[in-house]
Amino acid sequence: MRSGIEAHDGHRGPRPAVVVGGGISGLLSAWELARSGHAVTLLEATATLGGCVAPVHAPLPDGTELVLDAGAESFAVRTPAVRELVEELGLSGAVVTPNPVGSWMYLPDPAGGGGEVAGRAVRSPRVGILGIPGDLDAPEVAEALGTEALARARQDLTQPVGRWEQALHDGGPVTVGAVVRDRMGDGVLQVLVAPVVAGVHSADPDTLDLRTVAPGLLEALVTEGSLARAVASRRAAAPPGALVASLRGGMNTLTAALVEALRAAGATVRTGVLATGLDRAADGWTVSTRTQDGTEATLSAGRVVVATDGPAAWDLLAPVAGGALAAADRPAEGAGVALVTLVADAAGLDAAPRGTGLLVSPQVPADVVGAKAMTHVTAKWDWVRTAPHRHVLRLSYGRVTDAPGASTPGYGTGDRELLARAVTDATTLTGVDLAGTVVHSFVVRWRSALPAATTAHRAAVRSVRDWLEGQAGLDAVGAWLAGTGLAAVVGDVRRRIGGDET
Ligand SMILES: Cc1cc2nc3c(=O)[nH]c(=O)nc-3n(C[C@H](O)[C@H](O)[C@H](O)COP(=O)(O)OP(=O)(O)OC[C@H]3O[C@@H](n4cnc5c(N)ncnc54)[C@H](O)[C@@H]3O)c2cc1C
Repeated sequence: MRSGIEAHDGHRGPRPAVVVGGGISGLLSAWELARSGHAVTLLEATATLGGCVAPVHAPLPDGTELVLDAGAESFAVRTPAVRELVEELGLSGAVVTPNPVGSWMYLPDPAGGGGEVAGRAVRSPRVGILGIPGDLDAPEVAEALGTEALARARQDLTQPVGRWEQALHDGGPVTVGAVVRDRMGDGVLQVLVAPVVAGVHSADPDTLDLRTVAPGLLEALVTEGSLARAVASRRAAAPPGALVASLRGGMNTLTAALVEALRAAGATVRTGVLATGLDRAADGWTVSTRTQDGTEATLSAGRVVVATDGPAAWDLLAPVAGGALAAADRPAEGAGVALVTLVADAAGLDAAPRGTGLLVSPQVPADVVGAKAMTHVTAKWDWVRTAPHRHVLRLSYGRVTDAPGASTPGYGTGDRELLARAVTDATTLTGVDLAGTVVHSFVVRWRSALPAATTAHRAAVRSVRDWLEGQAGLDAVGAWLAGTGLAAVVGDVRRRIGGDET
């Protein structure tokens, strides 16, 4: 093992800065710093850039190749953050919106026969946030809930909101589960909200922080005097049209364009370099690194931005925090998710029988459907359609609520088992027999990439940010601090690093 010091001379030329992590938060931080006159070195531990926003290449038997998103496939348009970045990178012409065919849910069906719980597919309510319905008169809400649960949900329209006015005033933790259960009852929580929370946030509604995942909803509940009216008013206030957008070619084209812009701005981008430690120096900070062949080095810089996932960031920051960051607050690694992509030649899917896809209720037994969600990628995005009757389905496995050692398929399940499950599950979910139709399939696994938006995590984030306030030249960004999703991450980096002149 060799070692060395890579000196950055801060007295002549641009001021040195090091960014740790080559996901969207690191790439954007590096670009912002490069444009404000820093000599930036970006370090990415793996061989590829983009983090959760990276491509995956699918070679097909006919010799063609599909390039798909390995992780994030869209961005929320509730804030202009990502759209502005897209424009700056010259990608506006590539913006696409999902086909307006709607989505479905797969719910438990106790009347499945023989006393066994089976499942049934129903359309998702069209007006909703996190699955919370904004229109309690919509026929699809009645179909999903049944008479009794709907009657309970309707109490929301008249019940006083004093308790939530108080919570808003106190500023204490408020979970999605507590609000929905109180306003609309357990039926809405279990049937409509839990599948969305599990599918989108890999979380349990009873630990998911409402303020993080639905900013402004608590305030609207108090103003409108009803959760349903609050949802409807927040939706009406959002830009018209789809809630998400993407780019032709996938979101991975955004990080690719960012890498190009970063290099054009003169930054040094290094892959296969792990940051192993952070230390204070007389004129700033040092970052210790190790490459895949074991070469160790130290970089010095007046500015350091830690842009990794939560556990990795914590391990870099805590040793220099001198006890200011409590060990108990270290973000959990998370249960992880496994995504299975199936490319199938199946004419039965041409009519998009489940719209853009389905979220599966956690109450559906795993032996009925093991997946927590399925996206019909070719029904959702036109650009992915490359041949007649060729379809792409993406199924996700693994919930944060799975008990350790549970038999439910997830992050730790082997590829062969997952691929076989995916074909069976997709057949059940779509109602189309997919046996023998799959021409290509692969598994992508994610761990630590989906931070838990729990109320405890929110408190830990506050303590990290308070501590960082006093650390000149040091910052940390990324989904574990800003919240999951490109809109949250990009907006946060712009606020913290954008226009930095120091
Ligand atoms: C499967 C999946 C689907 C998603 N879908 C969507 C979606 O459709 N829409 C949406 O808005 N959001 C989505 N998200 C969330 C979104 O992608 C993330 O919130 C966001 O991309 C996180 O970016 P980041 O830069 O904070 O972290 P990451 O993308 O995790 O990047 C961190 C990088 O740091 C590197 N790193 C870690 N430790 C070190 C170290 N010590 N030294 C050097 N490098 C290190 C990692 O290798 C990684 O490349 C999805 C996430 C996942 C996992």
